[in-house]
Amino acid sequence: MTEQDKIKENIPTTPRKLQLKLLERKSHVGTDIVSFKFSRSGDNNNYYLNYNAGQYAVFDLGTKEDPSGPIRFFNLASSPTEKNFILISTIIRDTPFKKKLDSLNVGISVKLTAPLGKFILHEDHSRAAVFLSEGIGVVPFRSMIKYATDKQLPVRIILFDANRNQDNILYKEEFDKCANSNKNLKIIYTLYIHDSDWKGERGHITKTMVNKYLSSTEMYNSIFYICGAPGMINTMRKLLQVDLGIPKERIMAEEFSGY
Ligand SMILES: Cc1cc2nc3c(=O)[nH]c(=O)nc-3n(C[C@H](O)[C@H](O)[C@H](O)COP(=O)(O)OP(=O)(O)OC[C@H]3O[C@@H](n4cnc5c(N)ncnc54)[C@H](O)[C@@H]3O)c2cc1C
Repeated sequence: MTEQDKIKENIPTTPRKLQLKLLERKSHVGTDIVSFKFSRSGDNNNYYLNYNAGQYAVFDLGTKEDPSGPIRFFNLASSPTEKNFILISTIIRDTPFKKKLDSLNVGISVKLTAPLGKFILHEDHSRAAVFLSEGIGVVPFRSMIKYATDKQLPVRIILFDANRNQDNILYKEEFDKCANSNKNLKIIYTLYIHDSDWKGERGHITKTMVNKYLSSTEMYNSIFYICGAPGMINTMRKLLQVDLGIPKERIMAEEFSGY
């Protein structure tokens, strides 16, 4: 690590108003999901965004005609170990904010406030982290998985990632690469629309599925993280608390309210 990297890592993670440049836009084939990469530093290198894996940013596109207002929240899918960019991913719909976001040209700067949020990895690495996501809810888990893998953190991570079909498995290539190099990482993909080519798990995340992949120790002491739309959060909370008897102190949730 260079001296400059060390200085950057030590920048406090307190929220600030920033203007960051759009570097790249990538559509995910077969889905309505688009990922956007922004610079991590200001135009004159006058600031650098430091954050914890799993945090989010508030983007302000100044959309005046939007009944929901000009701001939206986006979790950072990038890991703090990715030095030169931040990454967000979202579903592009026919809403004023998303239309504006999707029309931004590379090179344009946008206003945002970051970093925010407490949905970050626990520090006691003797406890596993169990991530439960559906669809776009996988965003903060890319950040945490990439971070844990790059830093070789000695923490067991088990991701249950439910999607409608194979095209919708966001970041699959990157996740599979992480799983190949990180022996502490286990990923279970499950599809809830029938696909005869699919050899993996099928359906939504269920009690049977969680029981199948977690040891009794992992069930007893893991920290569970849920991320997704409000309906999914409620379903997963019920699954964990009522069906599996996990106390709420071991459950953390990031709700994508607005979906
Ligand atoms: C902490 C936090 C983190 C978040 N992180 C992410 C993230 O990483 N990625 C992400 O994509 N989102 C994230 N969200 C949600 C995000 O901020 C937006 O609220 C969401 O993307 C919807 O924005 P919109 O502009 O499309 O909807 P709006 O314009 O705000 O739409 C308002 C309402 O209209 C309805 N609606 C409009 N169009 C449709 C449609 N085509 N289908 C169904 N219903 C529709 C919905 O009920 C919606 O609630 C996060 C939210 C929070 C609170």
